[in-house]
Amino acid sequence: MTDCLFCRIASGEIPASIVYQDERVVAFRDINPQAPVHVLLIPRKVIRTHAEIGEADKELLGHLHLVAARLAEQLGLGDGYRLVVNCRERAGQTVPHLHFHLLGGRDMTWPPG
Ligand code: AMP
Repeated sequence: MTDCLFCRIASGEIPASIVYQDERVVAFRDINPQAPVHVLLIPRKVIRTHAEIGEADKELLGHLHLVAARLAEQLGLGDGYRLVVNCRERAGQTVPHLHFHLLGGRDMTWPPG
């Protein structure tokens, strides 16, 4: 059994509000949403953080982006959304399994905090 929270969500061991899944990617609603739409997209493959992506992950990362763009449209974010990756502690990463935050449904400011 893995102690990786997002692996356990991807396998169905821990329940989550899953909005999309395929053989490579799972997307589910964030438990502590920061916007009306706040979905996390993860690869099923364990990559601990963005800084650890490798050449072999290029296709997977492209697929994650395509899924994010399609989901944004499906979830009513055609007028704009934000895609965020927090990499390591200083950027606020709390779960060591690569994930994209897809946020939308409200106006956003820049720069982020
Ligand atoms: P980060 O801080 O970038 O590592 O993002 C981790 C995200 O995971 C946070 O936004 C949390 O609210 C979210 N999160 C933690 N546990 C769960 C869970 N069981 N189901 C859904 N989202 C979660």
